[in-house]
Amino acid sequence: MKLMEDRIRKDGIVEDGDVLKVGMFLNQQIDVNFISQLAEEFYRLYKDEGVTKILTIEASGIGLACLCAVPFGVPVVFAKKSKSNNMSGDLYASHVHSFTHGTDHMAVIPCTMLKKEDRVLLIDDFLARGQALHGLIDLCEQAGATIVGAGVFVEKTYQLGGDEIRARGVRVESLAKISAMSVADGITFV
Ligand code: 5GP
Repeated sequence: MKLMEDRIRKDGIVEDGDVLKVGMFLNQQIDVNFISQLAEEFYRLYKDEGVTKILTIEASGIGLACLCAVPFGVPVVFAKKSKSNNMSGDLYASHVHSFTHGTDHMAVIPCTMLKKEDRVLLIDDFLARGQALHGLIDLCEQAGATIVGAGVFVEKTYQLGGDEIRARGVRVESLAKISAMSVADGITFV
């Protein structure tokens, strides 16, 4: 999507370790009007799928998922990375390896928040090696919910997570696809 690629060219910063910093509009500082335009694109792509819930993972996915939920008019559920004291009852949990932090954590949601009748759209900021999405897919499978697809703001195709997720039979729509990236040469879009 040209709108997204242009914004990444303008405000994205490539760092060592295959990390694209987009803190000026997507992560830490969120350009709400801009993200709302992108949310409309996800709505256009998934509006006929009967989405009942949007699922993401804390922390950076939450604000984006909430803006995406507005045109769909559905609630957002976010998986927590650990079981907090205010989570009681039965839980769905999946193991996730974090690309940016290099650490392992859980993705946890109460069973009451995802039902087998749900038709779930997964939303996340980045798709790199696919661990975050694999974790969210596992949660949906535990609940018996239907996954209508995933909406990703930036996919780094060369890290192959997208291929794996699609091979699992999950539709993935990415607003910008990066096929190569380095501090020296910058960003190449698919
Ligand atoms: P994956 O689980 O697909 O390997 O990585 C996706 C997760 O790692 C996303 O939730 C995102 O928070 C983080 N991530 C992966 N690559 C990048 C990147 O280049 N920049 C930023 N800001 N986050 C990333």
